[in-house]
Amino acid sequence: MAVQEYEIADDLLAFIDAAPSPWHAAAIMAAQLEAMGFEELREDEAWTLAPGRGYFVRRGGASLIAFRVGRDPAASGLRIIGAHTDSPGFRMRPEGSTAGEPSAALGVEIYGGPIIATFADRDLTLAGRVWCRGQHGEPVPLLYAGDRPLVRLPNLAIHLNRGVNEDGLKFQLQDQLGMVFSDRANNGLTPFLAEELGHDPGAVLGWELALTDTQPGTRFGADGEYIANGQIDNLASCHAGLCALVQEAPAEGVTLLACFDHEEVGSESHRGAAGTFLPATVERILAATDAAAGREAIFARSWVVSADMAHAWNPNFPQAYDQRHAPRVNGGPVIKLNAKQRYASDGEGEIYFRHACERAGVPVQRYVHRNDLPCGSTIGPITAARLGIRTVDVGGAMWAMHSARESAGALDPAYLVSAFRACLSEV
Ligand code: ZN
Repeated sequence: MAVQEYEIADDLLAFIDAAPSPWHAAAIMAAQLEAMGFEELREDEAWTLAPGRGYFVRRGGASLIAFRVGRDPAASGLRIIGAHTDSPGFRMRPEGSTAGEPSAALGVEIYGGPIIATFADRDLTLAGRVWCRGQHGEPVPLLYAGDRPLVRLPNLAIHLNRGVNEDGLKFQLQDQLGMVFSDRANNGLTPFLAEELGHDPGAVLGWELALTDTQPGTRFGADGEYIANGQIDNLASCHAGLCALVQEAPAEGVTLLACFDHEEVGSESHRGAAGTFLPATVERILAATDAAAGREAIFARSWVVSADMAHAWNPNFPQAYDQRHAPRVNGGPVIKLNAKQRYASDGEGEIYFRHACERAGVPVQRYVHRNDLPCGSTIGPITAARLGIRTVDVGGAMWAMHSARESAGALDPAYLVSAFRACLSEV
């Protein structure tokens, strides 16, 4: 396989390394968009949009919508790619852990559905945003990511946990997730963060911090044909959507990438996919391009490609899959189907995305969950219901979804970009 196919995988790994929290993910995307000539809009200002231009807007620092406007949005509608910036794991509690010694262990809340045991014994750090007092007393959010391992969830020795290999590694969720941080008693996070940011403690007003792994992403396998990193779910979709959006200029319609925070906790929030961010942004785009009057007709000729990762066949666990609908890593994008509409795809959506893959010259696969396992969901059904635009749920195949260290194929990121470009190139 040509080196170029792995180049996109390497670029994805660097993207994830630079995005240890959803706030960083939105900031990295904003910086890349700005470098490509996209203009940042603010929600609290009026918008003037010009055909041929690209724009982006952020909400809550961690959700981002970027779009490009063609000559006549009413003629060919919208092509929307949706993804999410957040990943399951842990968020820091304001006060320290009550779990006992050391007294300066940090308390966490569980965010979404991480495989908790995979966070044990890893070189973790803190990343997110810290609110500081600005020059005139106003609160200013600053991005913060520890540049070294800062916290740890130590395992229990096997001599003290004899059944661990038979029973699995389990942590009591309230009492056994204290993150070892400091020998200094009562050394809370505020003075530490103030020191890290070069402020005095009184200037730190609050924070939103995630735990994140410091180990950089890597390729592995005999030919480097696989990738491993945290947060592949779902920064791989944000990255592919961003690559496709900046590479593919719409002729007439509107192309749009929506990357939401809070998918892993149900999307019901100010900046989540179930909130007003996407409908309000689409409405403002149509109003600014004089297309609002034809809204329903425009929506009827539009598509949402909801991009989130898919479960790849794991040969060690064949019983976890419906064997005829188990996609392979490096086998191309996956169309996700679920009769109960946990995924929004239907027959028309499947055909739509399959044709895009054919035009792009990339293989395509299908995933259907087992009947005897509850199926996960994603933003596709939510945005389909809120917007009333046809939606197909797709994504790259991956292993170990929601592990601290996920893995996937090194060819699939390039396949995904090509497939998304084909979807966006229609308008
Ligand atoms: Zn996901």
